[in-house]
Amino acid sequence: MLLLPYSKNPSRILRGAMKTLEEIQKERPYLKEQLDLYRKLQGLRSLSFSTEGYIPMEKGFYPPDTLVYVITEVSKILGIEIERLNWVKDMITSGNIDFRRLPIGDIQLKHNEYSQEELDVILYFISKPFFLHEKQKLSLDGIYWDEGKCPVCNSVPSVSIIGREEKRRFYCSYCETVGYWKRIGCPSCLTEVPEDITIVMLDAEEGIRADLCERCKNYYKSFNSSMLNEYTEEMLDLISLPLDIIVQQKGYHRSSPNPLGMKRLL
Ligand SMILES: [Zn+2]
Ligand SMILES: [Zn+2]
Repeated sequence: MLLLPYSKNPSRILRGAMKTLEEIQKERPYLKEQLDLYRKLQGLRSLSFSTEGYIPMEKGFYPPDTLVYVITEVSKILGIEIERLNWVKDMITSGNIDFRRLPIGDIQLKHNEYSQEELDVILYFISKPFFLHEKQKLSLDGIYWDEGKCPVCNSVPSVSIIGREEKRRFYCSYCETVGYWKRIGCPSCLTEVPEDITIVMLDAEEGIRADLCERCKNYYKSFNSSMLNEYTEEMLDLISLPLDIIVQQKGYHRSSPNPLGMKRLL
């Protein structure tokens, strides 16, 4: 199995002149810290591993060598000593952390050295190669999302693309699968009543908006499809971070994390 790195993905090349991370950083100096972290994550995103002859669910989610590699990389990326991550490794090996429960918000990890937000980021990074492996294996891009959830990992999406199509295209922040769901509605509580949805835009950013659900206080961001010529979905999520802050200050929350594993951005 082979995971294509960011720059070699043929669908990206066909889309035209994508901006490089350096160009984006020049455009948006206030995102330096986030873009630096995102850059460090690329090695993990392109990690390929095989589960042939191995039963992941019995022993954790990675072959043992791969797990050691992933934990070592995450320790370097986040600047945490490897010894301080051994407990996560042990929990994964013993089957006490089920990555598949992560997107449905059903992992309640506690550790006195880390805050809940830090634990979310650590787990998001460690599980990233697993989710990309799942996407590659199941290959469900472009289908309709029943109940508004990613068909690979059941996450409620926080990023969507809106173009001429009648349906809205959603993007899964865990496995990066793309699929369709209703143009108006909330994928969290499934309301389709237009009055339940409030739209917020930033004056300075054309083509970017947030759809806020007044019923359950979930929100997701929407991007004009033409923006995919210059940015990946992940990059769109990152560059629109100021919109997350504004919306979260008003009391709304996102269901899936941004590309750095963060849901709360205040
Ligand atoms: Zn997914
Ligand atoms: Zn809702």
